[in-house]
Amino acid sequence: MARMQPGIAAGRLGAEALSENFSDLHPPLDAHEARVAADRCYFCHDAPCMVACPTSIDIPMFIRQIATGTPEAAARTIFDQNILGGMCARVCPTETLCEEVCVREVAEGKPVIIGQLQRYATDVLMAKATHPYTRAAATGKTVAVVGAGPAGLAAAHRLAMKGHDVALFDARQKGGGLNEFGIASYKSTNDFAQAELDWLLKIGGITPHYGKKLGAGLTLESLQAEYDAVFLSIGLAGVNALAVPGHDLDGVQDAVEFIATLRQTKDLSTLPIGRRVVVIGGGMTAIDAAVQAKLLGAEDVTLAYRRTREDMGASRYEQDLAASHGVNLLFNAAPRAITGSNKVEAIELDRTDAKLKPTGEVTTLAADQVFCAIGQTLLGAPEGLEIERRKIVTDTRGRTSLAGVWAGGDCALGGEDLTVTAVAEGRDAAEDIHRALS
Ligand code: SF4
Repeated sequence: MARMQPGIAAGRLGAEALSENFSDLHPPLDAHEARVAADRCYFCHDAPCMVACPTSIDIPMFIRQIATGTPEAAARTIFDQNILGGMCARVCPTETLCEEVCVREVAEGKPVIIGQLQRYATDVLMAKATHPYTRAAATGKTVAVVGAGPAGLAAAHRLAMKGHDVALFDARQKGGGLNEFGIASYKSTNDFAQAELDWLLKIGGITPHYGKKLGAGLTLESLQAEYDAVFLSIGLAGVNALAVPGHDLDGVQDAVEFIATLRQTKDLSTLPIGRRVVVIGGGMTAIDAAVQAKLLGAEDVTLAYRRTREDMGASRYEQDLAASHGVNLLFNAAPRAITGSNKVEAIELDRTDAKLKPTGEVTTLAADQVFCAIGQTLLGAPEGLEIERRKIVTDTRGRTSLAGVWAGGDCALGGEDLTVTAVAEGRDAAEDIHRALS
């Protein structure tokens, strides 16, 4: 077999192969498949799946509604708790949430496919011309929501529904946050993040202001002065840097930036990728970067993680997904140095022991490109907010240390950094803001 072009190059695969590689990870269920899958549910009393869902969706109820041929009612059951139920059906790690505890998983090793059923129901309702929710009578109150990612969108929708007027700010030129810029393409095909955003805004009463960044012309003081309440959902805009020699060589790139660029690239054959790629990290971002590097046509992709497989932030399902795409998974491998003259040529990985100490047993991998996915940090948090472990401190209602300011999503302390958790926090903070403003 001919060797691929060395270095970092665009067009490793043709348009047809790329289109196939980046198609839907799980093709949608049709009505018959959904009924059959729904019929496997025992409609448990005290359903463990519902307890495991961070947004507490009444799962047995919506599955029963699908089973009885009323998917639109099922979607309402879902959206009442989680207005981003369409995206969560695509990106939720259901294998470690609702499906992991499903009694059919526990008894037979085969759960009810809750995520796919949720997608089926939400797709049916979202295809309708009208938005399923209407606004309460106008309250005359105004709320600034800063950050149009999952937490911000959930908060904005709930506040608009209660009759408040919402100004939705985001630093980028379009909304969606991580749904638009931060997850693998094959989990959100056909521009679903923007379609969902457009659908959500149909509630009315939400005015987007894109290209407005907190700290760059937009201050918390001015928002507090202008609006009755402020909800901060600014995510984690900073990335942790790799502190090893060679981290600044050409070809070393942040995985978050790679994924964001990929998501915004219309013609993937123009996106350069290395022949030999190494991804550093153990979370979802690392997996998404590694799998997509492979799908773009990289020949060798290795994911190196300094801890054990069990310690990985990415679930076993995601690890297996990466392996099934041909990604090599290396555990207890910490980067020691990236080498090359001007550009990346190799990476040295030091084996770690049980205490994560380097043992001096070094493996050198040839590499053209290294993606760093070693965590993100809070950037641009306004002064005066209590910060702990580099996140905004809130109480269980989402209230921060500043009166009239709430926070939720990845920027706030507590809860896992998952889309579904962010949605729950945005929704719950909106309810508390509503109580405070009433
Ligand atoms: Fe249905 Fe499984 Fe939930 Fe029971 S645990 S209600 S079987 S989805």
